Amino acid sequence: MENTKEKNQLNDFIRQKIRKDLKENKNDGRVHTRFPPEPNGYLHIGHAQAIWLNFGLAEEFNGMCNLRFDDTNPEKEEVEYVDSIMEDIKWLGYDWDDRLYYASDYFEQLYNYAVELIKKGKAYVDSLTPEEIKEYRGTPTEPGKESPYRNRTVEENLDLFERMRAWEFEEGKHLLRAKIDMASPNMNLRDPTIYRIRKAHHHRTGDDWCIYPMYDFAHGQSDALEGITHSICTLEFENHRPLYDWFLDNLSVPCHPQQIEFARLNINYTVMSKRKLLTLVDNNVVSGWDDPRMPTLSGFRRRGYTPEAIKNFVERAGVAKRESIIDIALLEHSIREDLNKKTQRVMSVLNPVKVIFDNYPEDQSEELDAVNNPEDESMGKRKITFTNEIYIEREDFMEDPPKKFFRLSPGYEVRLRYAYIIKCVSVIKDENTGEIKEIHCTYDPETRSGTPQSNRKVKGTIHWVSAKNSIDAEVRLYDRLFTVEEPTKDKEKDFMDFLNPDSLKVLTNCKVEPWLKDAKPLEKFQFERRGYFCVDSKDSSSEKLIFNRTVPLRDTWAKIAKKQ
Ligand code: ATP
Ligand code: MG
Repeated sequence: MENTKEKNQLNDFIRQKIRKDLKENKNDGRVHTRFPPEPNGYLHIGHAQAIWLNFGLAEEFNGMCNLRFDDTNPEKEEVEYVDSIMEDIKWLGYDWDDRLYYASDYFEQLYNYAVELIKKGKAYVDSLTPEEIKEYRGTPTEPGKESPYRNRTVEENLDLFERMRAWEFEEGKHLLRAKIDMASPNMNLRDPTIYRIRKAHHHRTGDDWCIYPMYDFAHGQSDALEGITHSICTLEFENHRPLYDWFLDNLSVPCHPQQIEFARLNINYTVMSKRKLLTLVDNNVVSGWDDPRMPTLSGFRRRGYTPEAIKNFVERAGVAKRESIIDIALLEHSIREDLNKKTQRVMSVLNPVKVIFDNYPEDQSEELDAVNNPEDESMGKRKITFTNEIYIEREDFMEDPPKKFFRLSPGYEVRLRYAYIIKCVSVIKDENTGEIKEIHCTYDPETRSGTPQSNRKVKGTIHWVSAKNSIDAEVRLYDRLFTVEEPTKDKEKDFMDFLNPDSLKVLTNCKVEPWLKDAKPLEKFQFERRGYFCVDSKDSSSEKLIFNRTVPLRDTWAKIAKKQ
């Protein structure tokens, strides 16, 4: 209920437009949207916003949303991409039911529409060379020139277009163009190309066709054929809208959808175009489209991001009319907010150093209670094992600490989370390197967690795992993929020059609570004081447990000290 209420409050310009249309009973009160990805790469967080918008609007206004693959470009498209796109949309929690379409399903119908335009004298076969076509097009400030082939007869055009389809001509020999206005201030209306010859194999239609419709010709007509009411796209198509409308106005289509443009979602410290993401994959800068550093949905999934957090984020980023760059911190905030509620707490030590209790019997051990999620009592408690040897983080000990160091140091006390107050008595170092090998401590048996004495004031609390009752794990820490906020801003420079060399750090000697050996792929946890982590879905196994850090905690330290 609360959720619905919240949703109803969204009142961006697209929702305002839809509400107005509904009030005026436009489209007989129907709302029908579509998400039209080109299957030439994996979906990224920008697409998540378009998905959330199109599928979300359909849900909100009791309408429908189609999935349509915009597969008009035979060279770049692959089945792998089609499959990954469907998986990602489902993962986000949306469903197209039986409304899965491909623009290529409409090739015959689109061909007929082209013939219709020719018959109406509104399209012609042009035979200028590609260079001449460019030259004749003019510039934004100068009008273009009409092609000498512009006034071919309808019969001649029909004949040539049919022969184009029949594989008679080489690529680039002829084009079919709409006859609109070579002097239009909108370059898109200067007799735009409708069909071109491409002798390429298509992932669905095979070698049936050697002429392919241009995006602008395929998109609006596909929308109309599917009965789309609101065709939502990004801002770069604003200048194409007059053309979108021109085709629909001049063809015998079943309806005339309304194109509405909104600003792309951009995020700092990453790149979002599929071409650039492919460059990262092809150059092995990342391990694949689903590398946890990628802004792709498959990368985010593998990293431990949740669909709920992603949807929350794109909603917060908002639907705007002007481009902006959203801070990645906002996305991370949404992730933390969601995982904080959902994840079980775990103790882990990522960079271990051994602590030995001189006053705890070597052959003894005991079980202590640990809270699974302080935000959610229903998640209960678990047992953790205390023994005479434990591991703590190397950084939680300093032999010669500065004033404000509230962790372990010689002569001082610190609280072990869910266990005892301990005090450091001596340190054993490697003779050659000087590295600390063992820290010797005493524990105060009176201060077992939960007893009144355990509340005795000490400056800090640190996490730990039993050295005798923990297991090994590898932990992968991720940082931003680029060192600058806008890697593609400077067009003179190569965005690859701004890659962050430290975007991945692998820690191979980590220790975690032993029951984590049964954790499932993608299962998520909060490692106390270290952040949110999930089991890697590709490389982790029962022999070698591997965790990805989803996101660090923001303010780990003060919070725990206050709570205990
Ligand atoms: P890219 O520039 O990443 O290659 P694209 O626009 O070519 O993206 P499409 O497959 O054509 O990718 O996109 C499918 C839908 O997703 C389109 O409606 C497009 O407008 C929308 N979309 C793509 N990128 C973004 C983005 N950054 N923010 C919001 N919507 C986006
Ligand atoms: Mg596109």
